[in-house]
Amino acid sequence: MMDNTPATIALERSPTDRRGRPLRDLRISVMDRCNFRCPYCMPRERFHEHYAFLKTAERLSFDEIVRLTRLFTPMGVRKLRITGGEPLLRVNLSDLIADLTAIDGVEDIAMTTNGVLLGKYAYELKAAGLSRVTVSLDSLDQDIFARMNGGFGRVAEVLDGIAHARDARLGPIKINAVIQRGVNDEGALDLVERFRGTGVTVRFIEYMDVGNRNDWREQLVVPSKDLHARIHARWPLRAVRPDYVGEVARRYAFEDGQGEVGFISSVTQPFCGACSRARLSSDGAFYTCLFAQTGMDLRGPMRAGADDATLTRLIRGNWSAREDHYSEQRMILRARHESQNKVEMNYIGG
Ligand code: SAM
Ligand code: SF4
Ligand code: SF4
Repeated sequence: MMDNTPATIALERSPTDRRGRPLRDLRISVMDRCNFRCPYCMPRERFHEHYAFLKTAERLSFDEIVRLTRLFTPMGVRKLRITGGEPLLRVNLSDLIADLTAIDGVEDIAMTTNGVLLGKYAYELKAAGLSRVTVSLDSLDQDIFARMNGGFGRVAEVLDGIAHARDARLGPIKINAVIQRGVNDEGALDLVERFRGTGVTVRFIEYMDVGNRNDWREQLVVPSKDLHARIHARWPLRAVRPDYVGEVARRYAFEDGQGEVGFISSVTQPFCGACSRARLSSDGAFYTCLFAQTGMDLRGPMRAGADDATLTRLIRGNWSAREDHYSEQRMILRARHESQNKVEMNYIGG
């Protein structure tokens, strides 16, 4: 029998891109500013005190974000991720979460944060409808932590944020750790040890060449398989089947039942084949890849009075024309110097 539930009908209308990939996830950057200056994302010398961040009026308002999200869900978007910059710097963020929660079709709202302000906001975010958080934490060592975030914040504040998120039941909580050779790779096992058995999953991210300002070098990338081998030697691991098609992290469970670790290996094991993620920048551009050079402006037409049908046509057309698979082409494009002018990550979020 045909299933004619609204969700099924909506999914039938979901566009696929030129590689047959549907649109399922929307990452919304709500704030281009950040209270950290991680050298791999917003290096201090480039994002200095005179850097021209967006003016308030240039950022999408909450109403505009909600309106666009309402247009994305009938196309198949089920999961939202709120990110930045640092999303918790956006004033009254819980109000936005509450509005997004109320949208038909939205099944899951997650947030990626550096965690420093999580202690303050965890409960109100949960009450507003946030499902879960991913907290970035690259090292437990205060000196290395500071080196990796440009000298701001304390490990203790992030751990406190994680504790508050647990109390507020913003789980399952994940920790994102970007690993750079010779910087924090030695402390990777300390992170595993700290969170094993707590229900919090640590995910190691290969250092990526996002944007144009982090002076990425391949030598600084620690391949996930090397880290996996080191962890496996100490705490035997077994592969876990993905929860859903397109899951970004490869997951491994500890044989002794003390939880899981994950690896996000965009450099050595690209996962473009099932990438169903779209991104909305803080100033309202629609990007179809983390490494895109251009986005489609939605704020302009929206503020000029475009109706929903027009905006839907723009979004659909852009997704249908999507070819992106940067991570599979990285080395070729870099060799040809065709990887310049990528959008900066603080605009479109990680
Ligand atoms: N400020 C928030 C945070 O740090 O969690 C949210 C935005 S941040 C851009 C999202 C994620 O991207 C973080 O987990 C961060 O570690 C990761 N990230 C940033 N630059 C990266 C890079 N060059 N390579 C790999 N991951 C990166
Ligand atoms: Fe800020 Fe997150 Fe980028 Fe670090 S990774 S500079 S915390 S946006
Ligand atoms: Fe998706 Fe682009 Fe990343 Fe490939 S490189 S997984 S297409 S965001």
